[in-house]
Amino acid sequence: MLRYQLPGIIRQCYRGVTWRRNPEEKAVYLTFDDGCIPEVTPRVLDILDRFGVKATFFCVGDNVRKYPDLFAELKRRGHRVGNHTFHHLRGFRTPDNIYLADVQAAQELIGSYLFRPPHGRMKWSQKRQLQRSFEIVMWDVLTNDFNAHLQPDEILRQTKRHTRNGSIVVFHDSLKAQRNMFAVLPEIIAWWQEQGYELKLL
Ligand SMILES: [Zn+2]
Repeated sequence: MLRYQLPGIIRQCYRGVTWRRNPEEKAVYLTFDDGCIPEVTPRVLDILDRFGVKATFFCVGDNVRKYPDLFAELKRRGHRVGNHTFHHLRGFRTPDNIYLADVQAAQELIGSYLFRPPHGRMKWSQKRQLQRSFEIVMWDVLTNDFNAHLQPDEILRQTKRHTRNGSIVVFHDSLKAQRNMFAVLPEIIAWWQEQGYELKLL
């Protein structure tokens, strides 16, 4: 089933993990996963600059290794970075020692206190250990931009519908998501600004 927002019961399974920021504050936290890559990320940065907003990028360590200048550029332009493992591992399929070592390898390049597990899933044992060093950030609104069966207007409509105070919203600066992401991103930022949401860094 297609979901843009996870029900509370699922959120409670991951206690101590961040799903949403302050519900009293009219703010949205824009995030991007899976970059940084030269085919997509620079154009994202230009769109963000055009609107004068900042975002948080959960980078894959291997991309940071391949494109260190692009990673430096992200930070130089005032955006924040988070750890998304080195090899985009699936926690459920990966033994803890390998998973944690992969996060650590990414950490040596990324150096952030923020972590987001690929696919939004990890084992409890992995979560417990990672919480000692990271704020683990999931999301309040998943745009599903990577889903090629969805049209941008549907993604835009659903993202508007699910946005609320303190929402953490996920897009992807990836090849798979770029068609939807580039179509939706300027529209949704303009709408958030019209609605009076401040775009903040995690
Ligand atoms: Zn990912």
